[in-house]
Amino acid sequence: MENAAAAAPASRALATDAVHAGREDLAELGLHAPPLDLSTTYPSYDAAAEAARIDAFAETGARLDGPPVYARLDNPTTARFETALAALEGTEAAVAFASGMAALTAVLLARAAEGLRHVVAVRPLYGCSDHLLTAGLLGTEVTWTDPAGIADALRPDTGLVMVETPANPTLAEVDLRAVRHACGSVPLLVDNTFATPVLQRPAEEGARMVLHSATKYLGGHGDVMGGVVACDEESARALRRIRFATGGVLHPLAGYLLLRGLSTLPVRVRAASRTAADLARRLAADPRVARVHYPSVGGAMVSFETYGDPLEVVAGVRLITPAVSLGSVDTLIQHPASISHRIVDEGDRRSAGVSDRLLRMSVGLEDVEDLWRDLTGALGGRGRPAAAARPAELLGS
Ligand SMILES: *Cc1c(COP(=O)(O)O)cnc(C)c1O
Repeated sequence: MENAAAAAPASRALATDAVHAGREDLAELGLHAPPLDLSTTYPSYDAAAEAARIDAFAETGARLDGPPVYARLDNPTTARFETALAALEGTEAAVAFASGMAALTAVLLARAAEGLRHVVAVRPLYGCSDHLLTAGLLGTEVTWTDPAGIADALRPDTGLVMVETPANPTLAEVDLRAVRHACGSVPLLVDNTFATPVLQRPAEEGARMVLHSATKYLGGHGDVMGGVVACDEESARALRRIRFATGGVLHPLAGYLLLRGLSTLPVRVRAASRTAADLARRLAADPRVARVHYPSVGGAMVSFETYGDPLEVVAGVRLITPAVSLGSVDTLIQHPASISHRIVDEGDRRSAGVSDRLLRMSVGLEDVEDLWRDLTGALGGRGRPAAAARPAELLGS
């Protein structure tokens, strides 16, 4: 099939797949950069053959052989991104969507279509994921629990167990092997947006589905919105049928940019992680900072709690951009209780460890000294209250 690049050999390193997966057929096509196909429709003089292909897709959700018929079924540029991401996550397939939330919606709809509307989930999750489960907008019923309570929370109609690790915004981590064990035969969905496949491949720990807000590290430049689920082919077929029927497709230009983003993912994540670890150490040693969260798996996210007003830090940065989102080449900071997790009920937010003093920083590729100068200026003069004991400093590492 012209648009499905051959699966990458299993033995290839991640850094190699990042620049080659999804592009295996390019030399044969006489191309170097991947082609961008913006077609919404595809010509065919054989309507009977098209009918048979549409029937086959509707029944199975398997990718079409040949051109996509119509852009809501498939797109060759987006398919390259899907092939590449599946190679990086070590899964059979991946299915891309218009956003991370569209991807999660498709997963929930696919489970509900099997009569399995109950979800067991561990807080914290990204604020809108929490909201989508809690508000019941898709008829989902959710049981919130800690990792140790997962096995007891399962019901006959449980279609999914969902965790995020490191979690947005506290960077709390769960033991994926233990969680996977607790799930029994219920599929485990891991949101891997923060770690990326560079630092963690949940499918290797038994996760059935790995979700990304591709808007973040996969795109990596703050200029493309997308979502993707890396999974086994059976799950992918269910997701493709939902995507076709509900229309949450990724735009092909976004698919192109995400494929390009993947090629630098390993170098971006490793470089930003080094800087983030350095900033986490400096923050932990700073008397104005009460607590620093930095995951044991590493990564480019640092969260911290200040003794002073966290809103003053957001107002005080000059080089760092005060904005929600994460995973871009430049550093962003935001206050989860005001923005990314505002939509979560206040009590639920606090009991999930999202303190009103918490700031979440996405570290980019700037020089560490320039970032520290900006951060230390924004932290202002207020230190810990005199004689107060220092709380735990560097969690989880
Ligand atoms: C941003 C985010 C999402 C939602 O993704 P969108 O692309 O904004 O729809 C889901 N999970 C995590 C961890 C996120 O950070």
